[in-house]
Amino acid sequence: MKQFHSPILPGATIGVLGSGQLGRMFALAARELGYRIHIYSPDTDTPAGQIGDKEFASSYTDLDRIREFAKEVQVVTFEFENVHAASTSAAAEFAPVRPDGRVLHITQNRLREKTFLEGNSFPVTPFRRINSLDDLQKAAAELGLPAVLKTADFGYDGKGQVKIMAAEQLESAFAALKGAEGIYEAFVSFEKEISVVAARTLNGEFAAFPVFENAHANHILDVTFAPAAIDEKLAQQASELAAGILQKLDVVGLLTVEMFVTKDGRILVNELAPRTHNSGHLTIDACVTSQFEQQVRAVCGLPLGSTELHKPAAMANLLGHLWQVGEPNWAAALEDPFVKLHLYGKAEARVGRKMGHLTATGETTQEAVRRVTEARERLLRR
Ligand code: AMP
Repeated sequence: MKQFHSPILPGATIGVLGSGQLGRMFALAARELGYRIHIYSPDTDTPAGQIGDKEFASSYTDLDRIREFAKEVQVVTFEFENVHAASTSAAAEFAPVRPDGRVLHITQNRLREKTFLEGNSFPVTPFRRINSLDDLQKAAAELGLPAVLKTADFGYDGKGQVKIMAAEQLESAFAALKGAEGIYEAFVSFEKEISVVAARTLNGEFAAFPVFENAHANHILDVTFAPAAIDEKLAQQASELAAGILQKLDVVGLLTVEMFVTKDGRILVNELAPRTHNSGHLTIDACVTSQFEQQVRAVCGLPLGSTELHKPAAMANLLGHLWQVGEPNWAAALEDPFVKLHLYGKAEARVGRKMGHLTATGETTQEAVRRVTEARERLLRR
């Protein structure tokens, strides 16, 4: 594998594996900085491909095509973590992959991720590996109920997970794994969910955004606001946890740490995402540097930008169901001049699909949340 240390300067080409909205907003930021962008995914006319200079449409397992893609760029990054290790290794023959394949390998599997966290003394809910009904019964006896059973691989937004309330449900929960390896997690009775998006450079420079507070609906992020309504000490602790995790993983790039704040005031890490995050979208309109620009800077070896928040801010996701009764009323949403609209260029508005988001700033987080949720309601005005 080649070693690359000098900064990759504007004018160079960045390759992105994945072509969704995170890739799109990354490509917009990279273009502002003067970079060229190549996008790799199985599809064409994608959210990211619409912004990039070139779209490579091929399977993530087509290693020859991945090599051709990597040959034309100076650095490769990604916008979703379910890229196979063989694909990142093939890319790494020709360009640095940031964060590297090892970070990807750990974070794309919940068991490896929680084992890494626990092994390095980062706080997580107790968990067990599940490969049989016997494993599941043992885990329930040892860790108790309720619990959450998740598939170890390829899970996000609550996909591939079931909550188990009583012992009678163990058999059906195990059947729902359909032969896949599982992870049994003790249920966390949390007060709130928060996230820290942080960046780290080749020479160890670190910067975290203010802590975001997240509210979910049907397991999908619904509204985020910043700064989180937690005390200064807890916010500091969350940020330090993120710093420790990025350092231990030796991340070059961006990584998001999703956390629970428990009812008794402790922080537990739920999940890591080695990339930008839905909860960080408000940074585009509310921070000195957006999470996407920060990813560009981090993977290209430029100094990191300030993560300072100009004003309290809130973000509301726009999911496909908003299109069910016709085109949303964009003008009505934008009646409030402090509301900003971001659409991802997706042709088909399926229920549950992330189509765009709204951001609002305010004098307080409450005001920002009120603005953004009211703007979203106005989308349905006829
Ligand atoms: P995940 O796919 O792991 O991010 O989980 C999606 C959502 O399910 C989280 O944001 C939580 O709201 C909830 N959840 C996941 N794991 C647990 C747990 N161990 N205890 C309680 N709630 C959980």
